[in-house]
Amino acid sequence: MLELAGATSDEVRDFVASGRRLAVVAIGALEAHGAHLPLSTDTVVAERVARELAERHDGALLPSVAYGETWATSGWPGTISLSPETVRMLAIDLARGAVASGLDRVVVVNGDFGNRLPLAAAARDLAADGIRVLVLDHPGLAEAADAVRESAPAVPGMNHGEEIETSMVLAVAPDLVHPDRAQPQYPEFPVDFGTRPVRLHEIGENAVFGDPRPATAAKGETLFAAVIAAASAEVERFLAG
Ligand SMILES: [Zn+2]
Repeated sequence: MLELAGATSDEVRDFVASGRRLAVVAIGALEAHGAHLPLSTDTVVAERVARELAERHDGALLPSVAYGETWATSGWPGTISLSPETVRMLAIDLARGAVASGLDRVVVVNGDFGNRLPLAAAARDLAADGIRVLVLDHPGLAEAADAVRESAPAVPGMNHGEEIETSMVLAVAPDLVHPDRAQPQYPEFPVDFGTRPVRLHEIGENAVFGDPRPATAAKGETLFAAVIAAASAEVERFLAG
């Protein structure tokens, strides 16, 4: 594994010359996650997955992107959102730069819901140029979350500031969590939620959707193990293809 932020240009050249071609980058977000979690939640979670993948598959780890498309939570202070077009172009530029360095197998570990569409668009555009990019949206998380959670989700499939996400931050960056401030929130969602753009501060008082109180670092480790195993299998297929 080579960590690009601390490496020299010569080290990258030697790394590629020895036959290693994988680049891994986490793309997260800076967005509100309630009173008990940091704005960097999505970034620290994605970076943990990206680092493990780079280690397991002897890849180059790029510095993480600490911003993402977070329009939905931009009604709360501290959320700083990129436009979808910025996320798309950012991913394209990062992949092109990695390929120009000889790292022509690019894996993007996405930590933020709003990045999904722009990253899929970027992967499509890059494929047209013959550049192969694998975008991972925490594979295996939904199944693992159902197995560990003790609290009810606010909305099926949404992990925001609740037990699941809080457990993952507790596992990777406990110093950034304030468990004493963790409060549940089960707001009423509009019946057409998911079919039209909704800014979440119009629904909830803060950015917690569900109950963070049963979160533990041990649950977080179980969740990471599931995501990393599923992601690693996808990377294996990607490198073989
Ligand atoms: Zn999040």
